[in-house]
Amino acid sequence: MLPTSEATADFKSGFVAIAGAPNVGKSTLLNRLLGEKISITSKRPQTTRNRILGILHRPNSQLVFIDTPGLHRATGLLNQLIVETALTALGEADLVLAMIDAVRTDAESEKLLLASLEKANLPAILAINKIDRLGDKTALLSLIDQWSQSGLFDDIVPISALAGTQVDKLIETMMMRMPPGPPFYPEDSLTDLPQRFIVAEMIREKVFRLTGQEIPYASAVTVDRFSASRKRKIVEIHASIHVERNSQKGIIIGKNGVKLRKIGEAARQDIERLVQSKVYLRLFVKVQRNWSRDARVLRRFGYQ
Ligand code: GDP
Ligand code: MG
Repeated sequence: MLPTSEATADFKSGFVAIAGAPNVGKSTLLNRLLGEKISITSKRPQTTRNRILGILHRPNSQLVFIDTPGLHRATGLLNQLIVETALTALGEADLVLAMIDAVRTDAESEKLLLASLEKANLPAILAINKIDRLGDKTALLSLIDQWSQSGLFDDIVPISALAGTQVDKLIETMMMRMPPGPPFYPEDSLTDLPQRFIVAEMIREKVFRLTGQEIPYASAVTVDRFSASRKRKIVEIHASIHVERNSQKGIIIGKNGVKLRKIGEAARQDIERLVQSKVYLRLFVKVQRNWSRDARVLRRFGYQ
C-alpha cells in the first residue's frame, strides 16, 4: 500500500468543545494550541462571547476547537445568548475538553459544567489548568482524586496553558479519542472566522484590558471598513466601539483622547501581526442605548 493512502486510512478528525467556568484559561489554551492569537483573553470573566473555531493540524489528525463562552448562570438577554451558545457547542462536539483552575474553585460553574457533561454524554477529558501557580503538589493529587470520582472523564491532564506545560501531552490525549475520518478543513486554515471578526475581537480585548468597571460589559465592536491598498502596502480599518451611555463614551475616549489612542495603538500592533501588513486603524466611539438588551442590535453586532 502507498504511504499516502495508508495515511488517509489512519486519519483522525473531530470537534473538541473547550468548556469551563469563566477565566479558567480556555482562550489562552486555544491560542497556545494553535500557536497563534485567535481567541482573545483577559483577566475579566466572560471575555469570550461568540464561539470561536481554531484548527490544529497534525500529520495524521485534525482537531477543530470550539472555544465556548464560560458557563455561568444567565441573567439578561446577552448572558442567555452566551450560555445557549456554549450548550450548542457541546452538542456539536466529538469530545469535550473540560477545564478547571487548579488554584481557584468556582463551585457554581463547576456544578453547571458537570451537569452539562452528564447531559451531553460525550467522551471528556479534564484539563486542570494553571498548575504553575500550585506550590504544593499534593494539592494536585487530591484534585485529580476528587475530579476522577465524578466518573465523567476518560482522562485527566494537569497543564499550564500560559507556560505551555504538558500541552503536548494534552494534544496526544485528545488525538487518541478522535474518531477516524478525513480532515474537515484544508491544511493551511487556522480558523473559519473571517479576519474582520478577529480584528473586532482584538479591539474589544483592548477595551477590556484598558478600561475599568462596567465598560467592558457595555461595549461591542464592529468593523465598518476593511480595505487593503496594494499600492500603499497598508490595510485601512475603521471600527466603532459601541457603548450604552455618554458617560461610558467619555471614559473610553479619556482625557484628551489618551485612552482611545492607547486602545488603538495596542490593537493596531495585534492586527498588524494578524494581517501581516502595516495597518492604519481609525476608531470611533458611538452611543447605542441599551444595546445589550435589544435582540435586533445584538444580531447586528454578531451575537446570534
Ligand atoms: P477564559 O475566560 O477561560 O477564556 O480565560 P482566559 O484564557 O481569558 O484566561 C483568564 C486569565 O487566566 C488570563 O489572565 C490568563 O493569562 C490567565 N491564565 C490562563 N492560563 C493560565 C495558566 O496556565 N497559568 C496562569 N498562571 N495563568 C493563566
Ligand atoms: Mg475566553
